Amino acid sequence: MVPVAAAVDPLALAQEPPARPPQGPPPGGFPGGFPGRNAGPAVYEPTGPGIQVRFLGTGGADWRGPAANGELRRHASILADGKVLFDLTASSLDMIPAGLHPEVIFYTHSHDDHYDPAAALELGIKRAYLGDSWVERAREDFRKASEKTGKPAPEIIPVSLGKPVEVEGLTVTPLPANHASYFVEEETLIYLIEKDSTRLLYATDTGGLTARAAGYAGIGQFSRSRKFLTGIIMEATMSMDYPEPDFRMFSHSSAAMVRDTVEVLSKNRRYIPVEGQKVWLTHLSKSYHTSQAELDASLPDPFRYAYDGLEIVIR
Ligand SMILES: [Zn+2]
Ligand SMILES: [Zn+2]
Repeated sequence: MVPVAAAVDPLALAQEPPARPPQGPPPGGFPGGFPGRNAGPAVYEPTGPGIQVRFLGTGGADWRGPAANGELRRHASILADGKVLFDLTASSLDMIPAGLHPEVIFYTHSHDDHYDPAAALELGIKRAYLGDSWVERAREDFRKASEKTGKPAPEIIPVSLGKPVEVEGLTVTPLPANHASYFVEEETLIYLIEKDSTRLLYATDTGGLTARAAGYAGIGQFSRSRKFLTGIIMEATMSMDYPEPDFRMFSHSSAAMVRDTVEVLSKNRRYIPVEGQKVWLTHLSKSYHTSQAELDASLPDPFRYAYDGLEIVIR
């Protein structure tokens, strides 16, 4: 008879899980709810002048001209320190101040309310950074636009998740968005923009802040760093109490989502702004948002709706 190994009772094994390192809060717990591990300091003291941001456009994809009340939002785009663009379409070209000639652009994704090769050529962009998952398609788009307009195509430079790029005095790190373009294989991006101690999150388009994005930025639930954000610009395609969810909730945020995100980051010391700093909402859809005056009256501090031409400094 063949000897059989000593009988093992799988249930008995299941009752003795392997030892795990200690989890959760230290004895006594953290104040303010679930802990951020080793999260940021009690007070933030900036070490530099901060990052200048000009909103060239603050509208979502459904803005294709003025609203019935005459107000206009161009497609969401910002100019950082007068030198580095994040997304740009033809709708925002008139919002670039005279005398400024930005030569660098970072694209979040290829939806046409963010990405418009002809507009970049018109402006004389020399370097375009975009996700490595669609760089060949972008090169082809720019080649065609260049052929059509006779203007030279920029250098197309691929960026990768979590890999910082140094450009024009800024450190720009691509983070994954919760979003999808027409091309399902395209990794859509949001950006962490750093300078000195300033850490600004520019998050459009995205349905919330994903755990992976937070992890790459060092501000996630499992991040062991003491890193934190000092500024937040986030999309609110949907308003605070929009009437009816639709497909946009799979890939966009509401003002309520921004509010909740900021609450969680704040109480875990992962968002520590200077006093008085606002959280700016952008990429507002035409269908869910009313006039700027009504919007301004509707949000609690520190949240504010951005508008086209607004200039701020994030410390
Ligand atoms: Zn968009
Ligand atoms: Zn989009």
